[in-house]
Amino acid sequence: MKEQDVYIEERIFFSDRVILLEDTKVKKSEDEWKKILTPEEFKVLRKKGTEPPFSGKYVHQAAEGTYVCAGCGNLLFSSATKFDSGSGWPSFSALVASDAVVVKPDNSLFMKRTEVICGQCGGHLGHVFDDGPQPTGKRYCMNSVSLRFVEKKSA
Ligand code: FE
Repeated sequence: MKEQDVYIEERIFFSDRVILLEDTKVKKSEDEWKKILTPEEFKVLRKKGTEPPFSGKYVHQAAEGTYVCAGCGNLLFSSATKFDSGSGWPSFSALVASDAVVVKPDNSLFMKRTEVICGQCGGHLGHVFDDGPQPTGKRYCMNSVSLRFVEKKSA
């Protein structure tokens, strides 16, 4: 598939999900988000900021567990799909469920990227690239600040 085809497909998918998001999912005002998020979380999740590479607490996190959205608790990734991409941001090769996030073309900063936002609260999580490991070939490049790690309890 050519790169252009991917973007067209994602745009259709996204416009279809935005309606859902606005109608039925977690919706808070900017002031409400400011109350429940730290300033760093607010900057990334609500203002599409990016934490500096290698600054996040989950870059080298290797424990078994799951990663949820720091804004709303939506289940996003399993530690089983986390890999060291060398990018300086926590990276995953797959989502826990395909509808956990919504993807959207992002042409800001003179780059052609695909933004990943939480399917439940619309918070900015990071970007997804097509240079990840097989079998998915995806690299979900996330901000640690947008995630909350939930460690697997030992039996
Ligand atoms: Fe969320």
